Amino acid sequence: MIQKSITAVALVMIAISCTAQQESQNDTIPEVTPQTTAENMDYNVQKSDAEWREQLTEEQYRVLREAGTERAGTGEYNLHFEEGVYTCAGCGTELFDSDSKFNAHCGWPSFDKEIEEGKIIERLDKSYGMIRTEIVCANCGGHLGHVFDDGPTSTGLRYCVNSASLGFEAEDDSESESESEEE
Ligand SMILES: [Zn+2]
Repeated sequence: MIQKSITAVALVMIAISCTAQQESQNDTIPEVTPQTTAENMDYNVQKSDAEWREQLTEEQYRVLREAGTERAGTGEYNLHFEEGVYTCAGCGTELFDSDSKFNAHCGWPSFDKEIEEGKIIERLDKSYGMIRTEIVCANCGGHLGHVFDDGPTSTGLRYCVNSASLGFEAEDDSESESESEEE
């Protein structure tokens, strides 16, 4: 019991230290509440709530469609450093290249840029008493996480993403295989 609550406190502390120092200057980014994340926009992918629930796991639904956050350090791709492309778990759009991934030691997969401009939409998120920049998939509106301007690389950005929002396609290093795929 004690061990468990210590772990919980530690996780909360990590989460706070990961996000609390962010002061957003992004006054130009439109504000939304997490509840409206997936609505009110003309996304290419339009599905009913029932369809999303059918397609996604419970955790994916909670994160992607309800702007939830997975517990730090629990996600499949937190410490995942294979070569390949990370996709949106909602619609399959390619979002991040593994080259842009780095270990931010905060418990969530972190990237320093999107794979291509326009794949990700940013919005002002004032939930939980913090001012943060939410990131959503531009194709389906699925909540991905947040982007912060404290990145350690040349972009200065840290896209902090839930593993539950992501899929992964390993880089195919066998040319014969990729050729046969195109047939
Ligand atoms: Zn998507």
